[in-house]
Amino acid sequence: MSVAFQPAMYYEVTARDDNPDCVNYEQTFTVPEFYSNDGVHCYVQCGRCGQHMEILTAALLDPQPEVS
Ligand SMILES: [Zn+2]
Repeated sequence: MSVAFQPAMYYEVTARDDNPDCVNYEQTFTVPEFYSNDGVHCYVQCGRCGQHMEILTAALLDPQPEVS
């Protein structure tokens, strides 16, 4: 499943590690403030194996967090 992002917005996303060699394999992580950049290059990188996780869900934050 692929998730569509609008550019330059903050989302809460969940992502799953799909690397069978990783200790995080098949674990799901929540990123409470995920920035979408240009809306295309949206990646959640695993802190253990360094690979990109599969993004499962993305919920647009409403309101958007304050950026100072
Ligand atoms: Zn991993």
